[in-house]
Amino acid sequence: MIRIILLGPPGSGKGTQAHLIANHYNISHISTGEILRKTSLYKRFRNVIKDGKLVNDDLMIQLITKRINKNDCNNGFVLDGFPRTINQAISLKKRNIFINFVIELDVLDSIIIDRINGRQIHMNSGRTYHIKYNPPKTDGLDDITGEKLIIRQDDNVKTMIQRLNQYRQNTTCVSKFYQKESKNACTLYFMVNGNQQIIKIYEKLINIITLNIS
Ligand code: AMP
Repeated sequence: MIRIILLGPPGSGKGTQAHLIANHYNISHISTGEILRKTSLYKRFRNVIKDGKLVNDDLMIQLITKRINKNDCNNGFVLDGFPRTINQAISLKKRNIFINFVIELDVLDSIIIDRINGRQIHMNSGRTYHIKYNPPKTDGLDDITGEKLIIRQDDNVKTMIQRLNQYRQNTTCVSKFYQKESKNACTLYFMVNGNQQIIKIYEKLINIITLNIS
């Protein structure tokens, strides 16, 4: 069983890499942002998400605990967007949800803004594209279904700044928590240069996981 957490600011490529890793190891890709956008929860939290703020911990923890217990997670999972706060990280430990790898993508702010500006998503599948770095085969359409791609409501510069601030305020201590865990527990922490091309980052991640899997 492989259980992975991908950390990194919004726009760091967590979703893209989580999708590739999940396919590679035949494990589930769990994106909390996608769960929120695709369920009735979106109505309730639309403004929170639009303003780049965080949904409350209790609900997120409940949601992820339920999701992880589903059969498609028997082989393992890759978490994308969770934990985002120290309470969320501690909640996994408290519930004995053991994590093998925590991998943080380190990306420059200028690159983040560039990636967010050209990002398009396919709502039903969560597939993510970028007009410059990862364009769909046909402009504006999903490669697999041919359905329309959309721009996320929170993918604009104003919300982006708020999301980056949120990340620095809350998720930096999550990263520190796992760096500490890595010293005395079986959870391994790695930081990877996320400024490179998608394929290069993917190769690096697979390398780390395959070399360190016990
Ligand atoms: P993402 O798709 O990961 O960028 O998430 C989009 C938005 O969903 C975030 O900006 C938050 O408002 C909300 N969200 C996603 N995951 C979490 C989480 N673990 N805790 C709190 N809010 C979250």
